[in-house]
Amino acid sequence: MTDAPHLTLFNSLTRRLEPFEPVHPGEARVYTCGPTVYNYPHIGNMRAYVFADVLGRTLSHKGYKLTHVINITDVGHLTDDADAGEDKMEKMARAQAQSIWDIAAHYTHAYWADIKALNIRQPARWSIATDYVPQMIAFAEKIAARHCYELESGLYFDVSTVSDYGRLARAVTEEGEGRIEAVEGKRNAADFAIWRKTPAGETRQMEWDSPWGRGAPGWHLECSVMSGDLLGFPFDIHTGGIDHREIHHPNEIAQNQAFCCTNGLDAPANSGAKIWMHNNFLVERSGKMSKSSGEFLRLQLLIDRGYHPLGYRMMCLQAHYRSELEFSWEGLAAALVRLKRMIIVAERLQDVEPGDPAHPKLAPMLETFEKAIGDDLNTAIALTALEDVLGAKKVDPAAKRAAVEAMDAVLGLDLFGTSRADLRLRPTTASVQEREIEDVLARRRQARADKDFATSDHLRDELAGKGVEVMDGDSLGWEWKLG
Ligand code: AMP
Ligand code: ZN
Repeated sequence: MTDAPHLTLFNSLTRRLEPFEPVHPGEARVYTCGPTVYNYPHIGNMRAYVFADVLGRTLSHKGYKLTHVINITDVGHLTDDADAGEDKMEKMARAQAQSIWDIAAHYTHAYWADIKALNIRQPARWSIATDYVPQMIAFAEKIAARHCYELESGLYFDVSTVSDYGRLARAVTEEGEGRIEAVEGKRNAADFAIWRKTPAGETRQMEWDSPWGRGAPGWHLECSVMSGDLLGFPFDIHTGGIDHREIHHPNEIAQNQAFCCTNGLDAPANSGAKIWMHNNFLVERSGKMSKSSGEFLRLQLLIDRGYHPLGYRMMCLQAHYRSELEFSWEGLAAALVRLKRMIIVAERLQDVEPGDPAHPKLAPMLETFEKAIGDDLNTAIALTALEDVLGAKKVDPAAKRAAVEAMDAVLGLDLFGTSRADLRLRPTTASVQEREIEDVLARRRQARADKDFATSDHLRDELAGKGVEVMDGDSLGWEWKLG
């Protein structure tokens, strides 16, 4: 036995928990499928990046030198994950009468703003799909003769040319194949375009010359090329949401097998990555969250309603990444209160120099934390261990501060960078100004000190009339909230 740090992860490909054994000793190389930047990300999408962030932070915490790549898809993703429909970017650009490049820039920046607001660490590299088109063409050229065939509409990958196609997926036979729209001449229903030719007589905003004519790369090709180019096959971990387990990732795997001339997935590394990990969905009571249908839940909507974005991060951490998580405003409010409680204690440690976390009282809590996070990222239990440390009595504050810092480096709640005041956001609909509330409260404090309870009650009613609830004796030390 080696004394490697305890870390087991669930591999969707083998459907087992596996110990993390890096391809390159001491290193961890991770690729995360990033957003298609044709619209704002919804908070469900952001759950995928909170998960990838916790994974990356855990790998760093366990001592691995992390190289994390997240891509930005700015071309090639069709309105259906398989081959049907049109390019999401082209469609949005037309609807908004803007260039695709402007659409991509706008939504990429909106996505990065959400990344920052959720305290998600910057990856080593954001790879932009359109920067890699020559590499995509070279990749396709290498596999074309043995694995692809040309049709009127593009270059198609023949999935029967690799072994174990679709092993990763769970639903191909029931739903997946049925959803794949027939393209005349396709040899197998699951065959997919790796290069889409621009139809004769049409011009697309984004198109490049290739040996198969002018056109654009397929979405699956992009991720194979960027992950292989930047991390080298095989790399350690590939992540995405569970929808990617069904079509996008099986297709990436097929391409990787073709490119690396490996075959058969009994050795998982033949797929291009040793471990494939998928986060489950954030759902609404009404069903799956979607951004292609008009109104949807954006992080900014939460902020506009007065919920600090880290409250949403807390909500994600409370669930295991492989479990479905149901969004509700009540659930979000509860997660925010939990975060507030932690921040109140952290504020008391704000000026303490971190010392040695090895304190006998903290040792079992730190151990629980290590075990939980190393056990396929069990953030729910890790959070309770963090709360135990925060609440521990008669512990040297320097040790406590160090322990909290180490745990928060994994969970990313930014406990020492966020204050109670930061958490209190004003809903954009609120008509009353914070200054005004504080003034009335100061007058009310004075009235109470003077034992003038009539005035005190009157001021409380005045605030209530403006939708502000006064919170006397609140255990979190909050004086008011918007009702
Ligand atoms: P997209 O921009 O559609 O390519 O999606 C970005 C990421 O969000 C992908 O990893 C998806 O699998 C993931 N995703 C999409 N919807 C949800 C959801 N409701 N909950 C969690 N992850 C999601
Ligand atoms: Zn991808």
